[in-house]
Amino acid sequence: METVLKNDIANFDEILGEVKNTGIDFLNNLNEWPTYAFDQEMQKGTLSDNGLGTAGSLAFFKDHYEKLMVAGAGPRYWGFVTGGATPAGIAGDWLTAVYDQNTQTVEGAGDISAAIEKETIRLLCELVYLPQDFNGGFVTGATMSNFTGLAVGRQWAGQKIGRDISRDGMTNDIVVLGATPHSSVIKSLSMLGFGSNNLVKIKTLPGREAIDIQHLEDKLISFEGKSVIVNCSAGTVNTVDFDDIQAIVALKKKYGFWLHIDAAFGGFAAASPRHHHLLNGWEQADSIAIDCHKWLNVPYDSAVILVRKEHDRLQIKTFQNTNAPYLGDPSDNFSYLNFLPENSRRFRALPAWFSLTAYGRKGFQSIVENSIAMANELADQISESTFLELTAPVRLNVVCFRLKTEQSKNAEFLNRLNKRGKVFMTPTTLAGNVCIRAAFVNYRTSKEDIEIAMQEMEETYRSL
Ligand SMILES: *Cc1c(COP(=O)(O)O)cnc(C)c1O
Repeated sequence: METVLKNDIANFDEILGEVKNTGIDFLNNLNEWPTYAFDQEMQKGTLSDNGLGTAGSLAFFKDHYEKLMVAGAGPRYWGFVTGGATPAGIAGDWLTAVYDQNTQTVEGAGDISAAIEKETIRLLCELVYLPQDFNGGFVTGATMSNFTGLAVGRQWAGQKIGRDISRDGMTNDIVVLGATPHSSVIKSLSMLGFGSNNLVKIKTLPGREAIDIQHLEDKLISFEGKSVIVNCSAGTVNTVDFDDIQAIVALKKKYGFWLHIDAAFGGFAAASPRHHHLLNGWEQADSIAIDCHKWLNVPYDSAVILVRKEHDRLQIKTFQNTNAPYLGDPSDNFSYLNFLPENSRRFRALPAWFSLTAYGRKGFQSIVENSIAMANELADQISESTFLELTAPVRLNVVCFRLKTEQSKNAEFLNRLNKRGKVFMTPTTLAGNVCIRAAFVNYRTSKEDIEIAMQEMEETYRSL
């Protein structure tokens, strides 16, 4: 073994100590750390012959790259839907790397870390009051959750018309319907061979992003004879609107379609008694996507796909890893290898297990309710502002707003605001109008952060 690696192994204790110190320095400064990388120059290195060792690499990283890190996990990073990382989430993530399991099976293959993954799914379902009717597994993000749920839906829809899509390939006789699908659903349609142009758009209710149930029924009638997948939004990214799940479930009973619910962040609203009703009926879905690196506040690379247990044969048909005798027969024993897109998998459930175990029902209820309260606080202040106005009512945890006058300056305003590095938001369009959106899912955000953001916006506006 090369001496550098030998040295590293001999000094593991010290190395991890240094890593811990680097981490804690960052975390202790996270509230003040810039939300924008001021220095966008990235130093390039060369692959050295002997290597710098971990200590040398860490020194290089701190000198050149640490400044490129943004406070994405900080309290004023409101772009996209960006969660932070709680202490338990980080603990679980660090230990995932330490244990380095290849998480596949629950029995019979030595490593049974998948049993802990299943346990984590069970706890997550308890948190959001879902019955234990679903098989679940961890994937990298809700894009992959949507992909996986829609893939099993595709297999179901194929079977309904006598076609085994995983073996025989795609058909044009399956249609996918939805009103305001997340961009990752459209991306999944590309990846799954439906084609991103082929989503059948259902109308939304007037002034809303939620599905028009009457129009959905009309379309279902017009597609009789075809096999149908309905993509339902449980929390749109702009106005956090929810499709009427109960009404869709009633149509499902009448017309028989695969119901996939994208509840990437909206699903966590179920953890709050005050907001649980938004998800009423979701326990009847065939598949549900939930993102843990959003409102569960675990580090990135964590989402869940839930598929009804009664569809497990279909799920195996979709993802079975056949033609590899050394991996065993897919129908013998449960293995994630035959259930999800990946083969080798990291022990991705561990950060979520730590978080659910560490903070429990009340902990997550209060994170969810605090985010909603902070969104409403920002909205209240915007309503009273002389230069800003809301562009949509705040339904849950996202605020959409813009400059009251000078609409053409919204983009420049946001650009300048973000470059100040104190708060970060992203642009969007609502009913064709450009606006700015602030999404709240980080457990750290407090009223003080709203004050800081308002102050920053005031100063940015004056600079225009
Ligand atoms: C974030 C999000 C996704 C995609 O999740 P990734 O984790 O970015 O892959 C899908 N749907 C909704 C509603 C989301 O908010």
